[in-house]
Amino acid sequence: MQIATIGRWGVSARVWPWQIFRRRFSRAATPPYLKAGLFNRFELFWRGRANDNIALVELLQENGTIKSDRIAHAMKQLDRGLFAPQGEIAYVDIPLPIGYNATISAPHMHAACLELLENHLEPGMHALDVGSGTGYLTAAFALMVGEQGYAVGVEHIPELVQQSIENVKRSKAAPLLESGHLSLHVADGRQGWPEQAPYDAIHVGAAASSVPQALVDQLKTGGRLVIPVGDIYQDLLVIDKQPDGSLQSHSATSVRYVPLTSRDAQLNY
Ligand code: SAH
Repeated sequence: MQIATIGRWGVSARVWPWQIFRRRFSRAATPPYLKAGLFNRFELFWRGRANDNIALVELLQENGTIKSDRIAHAMKQLDRGLFAPQGEIAYVDIPLPIGYNATISAPHMHAACLELLENHLEPGMHALDVGSGTGYLTAAFALMVGEQGYAVGVEHIPELVQQSIENVKRSKAAPLLESGHLSLHVADGRQGWPEQAPYDAIHVGAAASSVPQALVDQLKTGGRLVIPVGDIYQDLLVIDKQPDGSLQSHSATSVRYVPLTSRDAQLNY
């Protein structure tokens, strides 16, 4: 029955016939998490599920999504339930709605992006998270680059930024927010955040139709940009800036993210 499975972490790219039907013909009656096409209740039964954050991270280690101990350590320190306070479902490996037509990404996508960026998240490095949503990944970046580094989140919905600051304050990344080594800003992420540029790592948590030039400009030589690009099906592009300034790019997998767009377009989506 399943008509497409794409990608190494492909759960977010699985398409079932009834999802296509539902999206085409019954949008108005569809709850937000289904409207985003992210999962359905049947999938909950076979998706990775855990009862708490440590078990969730261990599950991702067991199934090979997390290979690095540094990443496991950072994710164990950040209780996903603080960023998606929706009870035990926070520990199921699925994206969850956070309002404003946005989602917190699935834990396996957070882990996958951290794995792709690991060498660019060494202590002292600078990291930018565009479309920071709940602040989860920005906080993970901050824990990895530490108090000598900088982790910056940019999100264009002011209410989400306010909420993400509250989330971080409750988390183990709170001291980094206090010291200014983690910051969360309301802005159009397509313009990046020049203040802390150039960045060793740039992550974009929403799908762009093309790679914004400002992000390429703000990437350090030797730095890495991870960005989903495309419309319905997107490639998670990994773009490395070479010593001569040229770009080398490959697709890590196919994914499905909410669009990187204007605030109006997102709210009227
Ligand atoms: N990594 C986040 C993902 C949030 S979903 C998390 O796991 O919590 C993607 C986010 O991108 C949404 O919060 C959306 O509001 C934001 N977004 C979309 N277009 C944007 C833009 N042009 N500038 C900044 N943020 C944007």
